[in-house]
Amino acid sequence: MQDWESRLAHLRIERLRPKQIEAALALRSMVYIPLGALEYHGHHLPIGLDAMTAHGLCLQACEQTGGLVMPPLYYGMTGSIGHHPWTICVEKEETLKQLYLDTLNRLSDFGIEQAVLFTGHFGRRQMALMAELQNEWDANASSLRLKCLSISDLPGVAMPGDHGALFETSVLAQLHPDRVHLNELPDQTEFPANDPDGDSWGAHRRDPENVLFGILGDDPRDYQPEQAQALTQALLKGVVELVEA
Ligand SMILES: [Zn+2]
Repeated sequence: MQDWESRLAHLRIERLRPKQIEAALALRSMVYIPLGALEYHGHHLPIGLDAMTAHGLCLQACEQTGGLVMPPLYYGMTGSIGHHPWTICVEKEETLKQLYLDTLNRLSDFGIEQAVLFTGHFGRRQMALMAELQNEWDANASSLRLKCLSISDLPGVAMPGDHGALFETSVLAQLHPDRVHLNELPDQTEFPANDPDGDSWGAHRRDPENVLFGILGDDPRDYQPEQAQALTQALLKGVVELVEA
């Protein structure tokens, strides 16, 4: 366990007894719900990366804003890479939507004032589902205010989101350095990225023979700790800013 995980364990709702939950929420009536997906991210990263980064950022944001954090939901919507190895996603929108709604309705029953659905997985279908949920929730005039946020859409963040590439590798390396194994990828000098027309998102990356198979975006072997630290700090700042907006 990382130092920050030990320090923030008291913000994880699943570890708390009722009186502890009530005391924390009396100070700030807000619950974060981190979302992810189980997906192949290349040989160097774990399949649960999206939920791990979402959980970590929610906990660190919660430290600043108050409130509590739900356990991360590792299931997300499948996308264009649904057939890749060890990608285990939900196929139907209604399956996930009902889980989100059941959770939000229960939090609303308890009188929670604000909920933050924060996704570390920003596949097209997942994002569409969250937008739909936000619209429907806003229209039903619940006393619980909902904010649907994505790691790919935070203010003040220069690097674009990706899949198993430089962005995701950098954020996970900051939060869980022991989960990133860049040495499991082929040597960069001997096997440089092979991207026709410099397109790092093309269909060739879905070819198991490609040196960066299943990785969409800039070569993760260009990882730099300083850049990763700046990125993660910017993401955290962005979450807090949107939550408090
Ligand atoms: Zn991911």
